[in-house]
Amino acid sequence: MARYEIIHACGHAENTQIYGPMRERQGKADWLASRDCAECYQRKLQQQRAEASTRAAAQSAAAGLPALSGSDKQIAWAETLRCDNLRGIPNMLRLRERVQTHDIPGARAETMTALRTATLDAIDALMRRASAHEWIETRSSEPFDLVSKSPEVARLMNVVRAEIKGSKQQEVIA
Ligand SMILES: [Zn+2]
Repeated sequence: MARYEIIHACGHAENTQIYGPMRERQGKADWLASRDCAECYQRKLQQQRAEASTRAAAQSAAAGLPALSGSDKQIAWAETLRCDNLRGIPNMLRLRERVQTHDIPGARAETMTALRTATLDAIDALMRRASAHEWIETRSSEPFDLVSKSPEVARLMNVVRAEIKGSKQQEVIA
């Protein structure tokens, strides 16, 4: 264990404890010197996050998504999440378009119409969702998962599954 005076890439000096075998310490010291000091590193990270959030907010506003509500901190994070989650908004719009013509062999036409309507409603509800807290809560979910969790979509998907099963049994009988 020894203390080293490290001059970081940002120009700041830090007196740092370096552990481990003597022969590895110089390597560690060189590696530390090639990086910014902890404070500059954190500041740059925060700046990058703020920039990503600002870009995301502009993209969302251009796509007509609502302004988010919550604390400043929640909103800043949720702006980025909402764009990532929609991956981006164009993906959500593509999903919206695909749903309108999507057909599932074996499902009844009325059921498919109801499923399409329910899915479009769920997509629209997601795009209208303004609570920063909710975006943070569901940050690990893909948009398709969030849409599938809508009770009406889930219910109709079960109906479709039953109809597919029924149509396969009929094929066997015929
Ligand atoms: Zn620094």
